[in-house]
Amino acid sequence: MTVRQGQDCMEPPGKALISAARIRTRVKQLAGEIAVYYRGQSFTIVALMNGSVFFLVDLVRRLPATARIECWTVSSYAGRKSTGKLKGLPQLGVRFKGTRVLVVDDILDTGLTLSKVLAHVRQAGAVDVKACVLLRKGVAREVSCEADWVGFEIGSEFVVGYGLDLDGAYRALPGIRSLTD
Ligand code: 5GP
Ligand code: MG
Repeated sequence: MTVRQGQDCMEPPGKALISAARIRTRVKQLAGEIAVYYRGQSFTIVALMNGSVFFLVDLVRRLPATARIECWTVSSYAGRKSTGKLKGLPQLGVRFKGTRVLVVDDILDTGLTLSKVLAHVRQAGAVDVKACVLLRKGVAREVSCEADWVGFEIGSEFVVGYGLDLDGAYRALPGIRSLTD
């Protein structure tokens, strides 16, 4: 008898949107552009957990090893809805004064998360603050906010996979899937 393990046992939810192969190619391109931007300069990556975990790992493997990496666990979502509030921003003291910071997130939706994180980093004295997101939803932002590097533009659907979850599940799917009919 064959015992199937891990993802083999699981029916993938929803419909396929972006394959693992397309993500690999795009992440490589983004890393190339980011590496050119920071050439010869020190910078700190602030990755927003948990959704950006796979994206961060694939991206930083192609960036200079001198880049500092911090992971912040912030959240605004409960189930499939944004709560409109951001929890989890850390106290920064003076350690970001004069630094260049690249914020990495999984998805730009209402703009609440990214705008609050960018403002927090700027307030702490960072001199150059950029943002890179894997996905950008084609929706009217509730808060005006843009990313400097975007992996893929998508519609307004709720997506999971490659780090993105639904209440903690489906992060380990290799590609991005849409749960919206
Ligand atoms: P925003 O604050 O821009 O509304 O949303 C940003 C955060 O909400 C993302 O970092 C992500 O954690 C979560 N989010 C927004 N849209 C989706 C989605 O379609 N799927 C999942 N899994 N999370 C989402
Ligand atoms: Mg997130």
